[in-house]
Amino acid sequence: MTVGSEISNLTAGELKKALFKKEISAKEILDNTYKRIDQVEDKIQALNCLTKELAYKTAKKVDEKIKNGEKLSPLAGIPMIMKDNICIKDTKTTASSKILENFVSPYDATVSKKLKDNLVPIVAKANLDEFAMGSSNENSAFKAVKNPWNLNKVPGGSSGGSGAAVASGESTVSLGSDTGGSIRLPASYCGVVGMKPTYGRVSRFGLLAFASSLDQIGPFGRCVEDVALTLQAISGYDPSDSTSLNKEVPDYSANLNKDISGMKIGFISELLSNGVQPEVKESVENAIKLYENLGAKVEEVSIPHNKYAIATYYILAMSEASSNLARYDGVKYGHRTDNPQNAIEMYTNSREEGFGEEVKRRIMIGTYSLSSGYYDAYYKKAQQVRRLIQEDFDKAWNNFDLLISPTCPNTAFDLNSKTEDPLSMYLMDICTITANLAGVPALSLPCGLDNDGMPIGLQIIGPALGEESLLNAAYKLEQEINFDKKPNI
Ligand code: GLN
Repeated sequence: MTVGSEISNLTAGELKKALFKKEISAKEILDNTYKRIDQVEDKIQALNCLTKELAYKTAKKVDEKIKNGEKLSPLAGIPMIMKDNICIKDTKTTASSKILENFVSPYDATVSKKLKDNLVPIVAKANLDEFAMGSSNENSAFKAVKNPWNLNKVPGGSSGGSGAAVASGESTVSLGSDTGGSIRLPASYCGVVGMKPTYGRVSRFGLLAFASSLDQIGPFGRCVEDVALTLQAISGYDPSDSTSLNKEVPDYSANLNKDISGMKIGFISELLSNGVQPEVKESVENAIKLYENLGAKVEEVSIPHNKYAIATYYILAMSEASSNLARYDGVKYGHRTDNPQNAIEMYTNSREEGFGEEVKRRIMIGTYSLSSGYYDAYYKKAQQVRRLIQEDFDKAWNNFDLLISPTCPNTAFDLNSKTEDPLSMYLMDICTITANLAGVPALSLPCGLDNDGMPIGLQIIGPALGEESLLNAAYKLEQEINFDKKPNI
């Protein structure tokens, strides 16, 4: 194999084989990756910074170990990009916010440490909506990410950089965070696989908190197997995260090809009715047929409280955000205003200058719903509805192994077409947020293209800690769909 742009199209599994057969070195893979970044990054704007020194140091270790015939982890030497709200020691972590523009993390997030231990070269930090708040990546304080399939369209958010980077070959795999759909939505819009694991499966230590009861780190890849391999590398109990689950991590790639006949799959009726783009509906219906051909039993299921999901999520997420973001006050770290006259002015001006419009909107609404006069009417009520949504899912698991729906009712929309209308942007999350409210795992799989050639995503949802059968069902469908289209960039 020669170093060339085709390498940036290969999957982690294919690259690993080439590495072990010594057809290519980890250093050559990186050279090629950075060459690809040089080719496309100006157009896509997916990255906040490159981490070349760290990547090449890791690749060198991989090449030495291969030379000495030592055993390596499955992701060793495979290029990885991290969303820029995940800390890497001695590297800038900005959350695409002015308030953290010059913040250098003094420690590694647990996932960063795990990837370093697995000798995974981290090549760059990915752009995002400021503090992971958004659905289009237009809320980045630095630059909007563009969709590699059509540069006039959004890549989805908030992990738009992580999704666009994998779709355009800037990296083989990447990590994002998902509070209400921020991994699955960009995966759907960019035609790649993205997964939000069970709440607590992956440590949140070192992930800049947005809404702590919903946030979860997860992988992007160009195929289900790569997502399984990446999830394997980052999962597991972590005493530094009090919500981390102390449960054994199964081998996620061992049973991907298992027969799924007899599996019971429910399609969520509320998410396949009015308002769904016709091509999205067709692709999901096609996926249902393919599952039936594979021997699965597919039936309609109702999640009746889904209609309250957007309101519930936005009250809870904004309340938690208002509390989590109180720490950015200009005192210990982050942006501090010049020449304040007193302490109050220092706090006020630092926050006023540092936060963008959407972040401020959320802090205001969240503070309002948590304030003593409104707490019962908004925050407490939303918590009660969250419980009802969780119960809808609990009931569904009595009859079904997995649930499916579109990842989003529509495909990627035009840049700047929704920025003036935050409510229409919030509606993009209608299919994804219930999985966060219920804490269950969910994945987006490319399942077709619309009439403009933009990718469509199918969402597959599993019960808590049901990642293995979720990945198994996604893999089987992936083989049937055989989605081999690539953006022409
Ligand atoms: N789009 C949702 C929001 O703006 C989800 C964000 C996320 O998952 N981080 O809150």
